[in-house]
Amino acid sequence: MIEETTILNTLKEYFGYDSFRPLQREIIDTILNGNDCLVIMPTGGGKSICYQLPALLQDGLTIVISPLIALMKDQVDGLNVNGIPACFLNSSQSTAEQEVIFNDIEAKKIKLLYVAPESLSYLENIFSSTKISLIAVDEAHCISSWGHDFRPAYTQLGFLKNRFPNTPLIALTATADKATREDIANQLNISNAKKFVASFDRKNLSLEVRPGTDRIKQIIQFLNKRPNESGIVYCLSRKTTESIAEKLQQAGYNAEAYHAGVNHDGRSKVQEDFINDKTQIVCATVAFGMGIDKSNVRWVIHYNLPKNIEGYYQEIGRAGRDGLPSYTLLFHSYADVVQLQKFAEGAGNSEVQLAKLERMKQYADALSCRRKILLSYFGEFIEKDCGNCDVCKNPPQFFDGTITAQKALSCVARLKENENIGLVIDVLRGSHNQQVLENGYQNLKTYGIANDISWRDWQHYIIQMVNLGYLEIAFHQKNTLKLTPQAKEVLFNNKKVALTKPQDTLVTEKAANTKQEKTKDTLFERLRKLRLSISKEEDIPAYLIFNDATL
Ligand code: ADP
Ligand code: MG
Repeated sequence: MIEETTILNTLKEYFGYDSFRPLQREIIDTILNGNDCLVIMPTGGGKSICYQLPALLQDGLTIVISPLIALMKDQVDGLNVNGIPACFLNSSQSTAEQEVIFNDIEAKKIKLLYVAPESLSYLENIFSSTKISLIAVDEAHCISSWGHDFRPAYTQLGFLKNRFPNTPLIALTATADKATREDIANQLNISNAKKFVASFDRKNLSLEVRPGTDRIKQIIQFLNKRPNESGIVYCLSRKTTESIAEKLQQAGYNAEAYHAGVNHDGRSKVQEDFINDKTQIVCATVAFGMGIDKSNVRWVIHYNLPKNIEGYYQEIGRAGRDGLPSYTLLFHSYADVVQLQKFAEGAGNSEVQLAKLERMKQYADALSCRRKILLSYFGEFIEKDCGNCDVCKNPPQFFDGTITAQKALSCVARLKENENIGLVIDVLRGSHNQQVLENGYQNLKTYGIANDISWRDWQHYIIQMVNLGYLEIAFHQKNTLKLTPQAKEVLFNNKKVALTKPQDTLVTEKAANTKQEKTKDTLFERLRKLRLSISKEEDIPAYLIFNDATL
């Protein structure tokens, strides 16, 4: 048994802390009792101490499996600064450098050894000559193809428990839904591990989603409210990180781009300048941030929709690690959804990716407390709405949108479900644009029936109708809008539709209008019969009557 005072003194002496954060103590006790643990704790929750402290308290060497060389180096440097003997092994080191490390380990001078899963073969002689007190698998979600950072080399780690059945193994991650958690435990052969799931609720992070209309302008407005505060703009592509950094520089901001295509020195410099407050803003791909220990990141913006909620939550989790109020802003655009859908379809496990993207989209489209949605994704339930997300702060006002919906649905039908959102709106608003006129759409019954509603507001309503299941976007057919069976209930049975008014400025970029071939179908005939079977023509507005003459 290790004395309580020894544990607290070690925490104070090596890490400078007086007390533990939630779950740290329980996790450490479990390890000291020789048991395996699976730890799910948000980024910044304090996972490292859960294996670093037991490493110091026990005889022998703690092996830490960690995915990134950069990450290892930072951790090891940090430990050494605190007087903790730690080192790492990887393929970038010379044989001579590695020899020194092997000798130090043999001489019991090292307490923690960091190694990438690809470099496990280096451990063979250590395994046979050294007592291993603990094995820690950090960023353990990398083992699962269900997770968002799958690393094939992680799947080899299953042998560790077989080889060291009596050595406690701790797996740690910030990002794992239930299925991924089980997968981690199974693959590491620690199905009996004690599971610790810390609260994912980061109350100090405000959550906001806005339609990306004019994103650079929106970012600058956002920054004007927070001068000189550090933040990260996450982008989907390398090119975007560069163009955003450039535009922000032009607007007078101290911004740099970071992505995997920047050379190693360049990346280190951006990272260091950011950590040391020399660079205020980093525009980055998701390559930036894993393991960056900067407590005063005040905001995180997602320029593009992330692929899934795990990634999103981890990225916004880089803000406000010091516990002070911090801000997150996600731009939502259907152009991004289309792009991500294509990526997901090309992925090996496309079904999983698409399902995760769908959850991400639902979050972005949410009309109820966003934090509840986020937390429920991680299996956590909160009783009350959070009061710190845009939906809570500005609850949507519903109105009877049946007529608005009927106009839109009727227009989609008259365009033979063959046009995208942009063109449907142009027709509803009676636009004179070339594509409308060339196709003779000015003769449709729905032409110009709703020019009292602005283009952007229409976009807001139509996307809501997509989310409510009255319309579908056929991503494989040039994003054309299609009616769903529920749409027919609205068109012909007067099913009521509740819509929300748009808030401040609105909705997604205008989708590119692409020319499309018209295909003849029997939609009209079907609609006409349905309409006539339900009511007499004289009772209903013209735009809800369907026959060939009213095209
Ligand atoms: P994670 O790996 O879960 O993202 P870290 O282990 O990197 O988190 O810890 C995040 C931050 O919290 C670090 O700055 C760390 O020093 C700090 N921290 C960890 N445990 C404590 C504690 N008990 N008291 C105060 N700060 C802590
Ligand atoms: Mg960590």
